[in-house]
Amino acid sequence: MSKDYSKYFAPSIKDARKRLNKETNTVLYNLDEELLGIGIDKTYSIKTYGCQGNLADSEKIAGIMEELGYTLSNDEDRADVIFFNTCAIRDNAEQRVFGELGRIKNIKKDMPNSLIVLCGCMPQEEATVEKVKKTFDQVDIMFGTHNIHKLPEYLKEAYLTKEKIIEVMSFEGDIIENVPLKRAHNVKAWLNIMYGCDEFCTYCIVPYTRGKERSRRPKDIIEEVINLANRGYKEVTLLGQNVNAYGKDFTDLSYSFADLLNDLNKIDIPRIRFTTSHPRDLDLDTILAMAKGGNIMPHLHLPVQSGSNDVLKKMNRKYTKESYMEKIELLKKHIPDISITTDIIVGFPGEEDEDFKATLELVKEADYEGAFTFIFSPREGTPASKYEDNTPNEVKKARLQELNKLVNEGYAKGNKRFENRVVQVLVDGVSAKDEAILTGYTSHNKVVNFPGSKELIGKIVDVKVEKAYSWHLKGKLV
Ligand code: SAM
Ligand code: SF4
Repeated sequence: MSKDYSKYFAPSIKDARKRLNKETNTVLYNLDEELLGIGIDKTYSIKTYGCQGNLADSEKIAGIMEELGYTLSNDEDRADVIFFNTCAIRDNAEQRVFGELGRIKNIKKDMPNSLIVLCGCMPQEEATVEKVKKTFDQVDIMFGTHNIHKLPEYLKEAYLTKEKIIEVMSFEGDIIENVPLKRAHNVKAWLNIMYGCDEFCTYCIVPYTRGKERSRRPKDIIEEVINLANRGYKEVTLLGQNVNAYGKDFTDLSYSFADLLNDLNKIDIPRIRFTTSHPRDLDLDTILAMAKGGNIMPHLHLPVQSGSNDVLKKMNRKYTKESYMEKIELLKKHIPDISITTDIIVGFPGEEDEDFKATLELVKEADYEGAFTFIFSPREGTPASKYEDNTPNEVKKARLQELNKLVNEGYAKGNKRFENRVVQVLVDGVSAKDEAILTGYTSHNKVVNFPGSKELIGKIVDVKVEKAYSWHLKGKLV
């Protein structure tokens, strides 16, 4: 059957790039009562790709679906509504989703009434929407990152009209409050403190897929953390693409990320983490707020991307290797026991051997205890996708391998320093390999395995570290 795409909103990278300096709208989610119950006796499933921002969005999708009456399917492939909440950060993330869409096509033949929904960052890209329209007829609904709250309307329309629905907004974005959440964990929570990004690093698609930087009001965040604490949550991770820019968009109050950390430190909840920090915007006030300790965890993820000033400039990162290292020194001075991790891209267009060597040097100097490392992936619509890139793929792969070797030494060294120390572990669950072994994370975000009873799941316990390995610590309960 040919599809009617006559009434759809397609994305536009050109519009997504605009920043008009307009006041941010706050929209209150409100479910049309007529739709309550449209999901009764129906199931849903969600496959989530990419960052914690997407995991947080999936909790909203699940919250809305359950409010409508749907229940979570125990078979991901055979639900009445199947969501793919996608990531556009690198090509391989997208290829995985296209592979899954291909696979689900056959399964859908047995379930003609099921709905396949593609949402998240991929539909925000023009090229993706065109490709899905041409190649993946099995997709029934596409919406982007700005309009999760309109999901009930899309479902209603899909059921009533049997037409394909594509609604992707390419605008700066609102703040939507009051969306129901079905949290994935009952002791650890993700919490968006802001949305979007205004950094425009030249390789990155996020400012186009997620809109402008816009901060939630401190009151809304603080109330949510208090509420989580009252419900027994032990850990909250504050989310934003550049949390250090938090509050910079407020026109009526002066309130920074450091202010937020100081206020959250007064709440009776054991652990506050945050991600991601931007090296240019990380300031002394934030470092001092972390240095107070309390519930602010002594781990910082501070993506450097490259150790070469030339590459950093082409990436539009707005800091130098030297200014980055000054911040690392400052962090280590004020929080001597801190654990620092990072993100690094190799094979950025024009990266020469000397540039790559500068990255290796910086990794040694910064003494990272972990890093996510990537090969540059050109993203259509971003400036770097048009930069001349003469480095052969094999060279990029070899650089990644060499870098990973060094990074892995950092993981091992970072774990080794905890041998014979007593660490506090928030117990996540039992180990995948052995039911008698519990697993959890320390304040420094290290994985610890130790023998213990399941009653400890969700609690924070003291564990004496007996042995450090590259990827985890082994210990026993104190
Ligand atoms: N806002 C965070 C930041 O600035 O670090 C996280 C952005 S992104 C979700 C996570 C990481 O993906 C980035 O830090 C960067 O290392 C990597 N990344 C982003 N765009 C990329 C691209 N086009 N190719 C390869 N890696 C990329
Ligand atoms: Fe992308 Fe840079 Fe924004 Fe991070 S700070 S999301 S890398 S544009």
